[in-house]
Amino acid sequence: MNLSIVVPLFNEEESLTELYKWVRGVLTPLNISFEVIFVDDGSNDGSWQVIEDLSVANQEVKGIKFRRNYGKSAALYSGFEAAEGDVVITMDADLQDNPNELPELYRMIIEDGYDLVSGWKKKRYDPLGKTIPSKLFNRTARYISGIKLHDFNCGLKAYRKDVVKSIEVYGEMHRYIPILAKRNGFSKIGEKVVIHRERQYGVSKFGIERFLKGFLDLLSVTFISKFGKRPMHLFGGLGIFMFLIGFLSSLYLGAHKLYSVYHQIREPLLTSSAYFYIALTSMVIGTQLFVAGFLAELVSRNNPERNKYQIEKRVK
Ligand code: UDP
Ligand code: MG
Repeated sequence: MNLSIVVPLFNEEESLTELYKWVRGVLTPLNISFEVIFVDDGSNDGSWQVIEDLSVANQEVKGIKFRRNYGKSAALYSGFEAAEGDVVITMDADLQDNPNELPELYRMIIEDGYDLVSGWKKKRYDPLGKTIPSKLFNRTARYISGIKLHDFNCGLKAYRKDVVKSIEVYGEMHRYIPILAKRNGFSKIGEKVVIHRERQYGVSKFGIERFLKGFLDLLSVTFISKFGKRPMHLFGGLGIFMFLIGFLSSLYLGAHKLYSVYHQIREPLLTSSAYFYIALTSMVIGTQLFVAGFLAELVSRNNPERNKYQIEKRVK
């Protein structure tokens, strides 16, 4: 199988047939074998019926239906698991992603050797309340992850098969698949400007809270990819730093006190100095951070995947 198209969907009954016909129309002249995997994320409209009908009439159509709504990441994960193509392309079901982009995305993976190509909705047809926060969000993600993409959350993305089989998308991590891929050593990440369209039918499934969740997820992803396997390096480092500040300051305060006592200089009590409390607090916080580091090490030691590495090649 050359190409798998994974389409996560939640209540998109009006769009599915049109989407499939369009995709088929674009791919048939290319002379490649393909499958379209519709992952119904617990829709409660007629979406599943449409998928069943499509799959009876067309051998390329596969369908997976969740018993309830788990979210887009879960839908993508199941689609990735089922995909058999050498190249896997994801696209939204709502016809906002244009199927005419498929051949070029496929070509970029096969011929240009990209591991992942992300769409970039340079000109967007979405309400302003979505596009402005989105700019900020992408800038932050770019800065924190070091991946130079303009549009992390674009539904239209193409992957080499190894990429989707090795990453685990959960929660709402679909926004950060490029970061997950990079963390697993797939570093050739490209971008393609894609044509975006207005939503034709139905309504958007994500509200404004997506930006808060997205930001929190970004922090988790970065933290886990940097320190997931060695949490003590973060907590221990901070702990030593805090503890040293506290310890050295109290040393200084103590020495100062002894000096004044020795020379019989009248000084206010140590406990009436603000520095005394700062020193004390830093030492306490430093110790706490250390303990957190040890606990985190214990947790990460128990991770059954702690010795799972991405092996690219072997000889013999
Ligand atoms: N989607 C899904 N599960 C959900 C929410 C959304 O599978 O819980 C699908 C949805 O049907 C669509 C895609 O994810 O195919 C993108 O969703 P939407 O168009 O609502 O997002 P937006 O375009 O507003 O970013
Ligand atoms: Mg959409």
